[in-house]
Amino acid sequence: MSKKVDPKIEDVSPEEEKLFTSLRASSWDEFHGQSNIKEALQIAIEAAKKREEAIEHVLFYGPPGLGKTTLSHIVAREMKSNIRITSGPALARSGDLASILTNLEKGDILFIDEIHRLNKTVEETMYSAMEDYALDVILGKGPSARTLRLDLPQFTIIGATTRAGLISAPLRDRFGVVHRLNFYEPVELGTIIVGGAQKLGIKIDKDSIYEIAKRARGTPRIALKLLKRVRDYAQVKAKGEITPQVTKEALEMLEVDSVGLDPLDMKFLEAVIKKHSGGPVGVETIAATISEDSGTLEDLVEPYLLQLGFLQRTPRGRVATKAAYKHLGLKEPLNR
Ligand code: ADP
Repeated sequence: MSKKVDPKIEDVSPEEEKLFTSLRASSWDEFHGQSNIKEALQIAIEAAKKREEAIEHVLFYGPPGLGKTTLSHIVAREMKSNIRITSGPALARSGDLASILTNLEKGDILFIDEIHRLNKTVEETMYSAMEDYALDVILGKGPSARTLRLDLPQFTIIGATTRAGLISAPLRDRFGVVHRLNFYEPVELGTIIVGGAQKLGIKIDKDSIYEIAKRARGTPRIALKLLKRVRDYAQVKAKGEITPQVTKEALEMLEVDSVGLDPLDMKFLEAVIKKHSGGPVGVETIAATISEDSGTLEDLVEPYLLQLGFLQRTPRGRVATKAAYKHLGLKEPLNR
């Protein structure tokens, strides 16, 4: 495996994880944006409650930090259900899954983060659990092995993934509801920053909020993280007063540029443009060029560059766009 060269602004330390938990939107009122998803979920919840059934299995996909975990907690709260949290890599054996599922109560929610990382055997065990609320357990080995079918209570799996493309069709088909989370508009991020500032007791002006929102890569987690960093910077350098100037200085120090690109994004774009003539070039080649893991690039770098229109995905590889050349202050070659 190649080594990671630059920490991304998305990288979360254990202290920050705690902060995000304390800042987590806990009701629909605190959850801003993604209005289509919100409405669809509210209807699904209402209907399930009327039928006194568990809500259908839900799959959320989209880049990290857009609110997949938060939404799952809100759904559980609205359904007045217990929520158990686990992840694809943590469910290493079918037995791990079986022990969680057999301990669930009717209506409980099992949240599985990084569901694309489930191993095949566990995934197959999950099929009948999701479809028939039953678990097939194999007892014994060899010719005397028997299958025992255990009935499970009606429960809901909420899966979250940054890589929908890596989920197999049979698993995907078992989710009744599939939602793709999109990047947020700066105005929505502004509202999220205001909410975070209130919870943290931070006084911040409108222009600074907008500056952070613009540079937060369309991502609430990054917006909240930048807010906290700006607060720290203001405390050390400006007697705690956050002004637009202080905010700009803090963001510059954090190496987040005017549209939210960080050093790894820049490295990626420069590799495509300077080392591979603007593309098309495969993501594996880009990864090798900048000694980064290709999964990290696909998860954390490319979605936002695609969103900004700085990058195109073509069947022959990634291509840097005119806008990318312009942003980097480079001239686009005529013969591309
Ligand atoms: P994901 O699971 O997609 O990686 P999280 O749900 O952990 O993202 O969200 C990261 C942080 O951003 C949390 O503190 C959460 O409360 C906040 N957040 C995410 N989406 C929203 C939103 N739409 N409104 C308010 N806060 C949000």
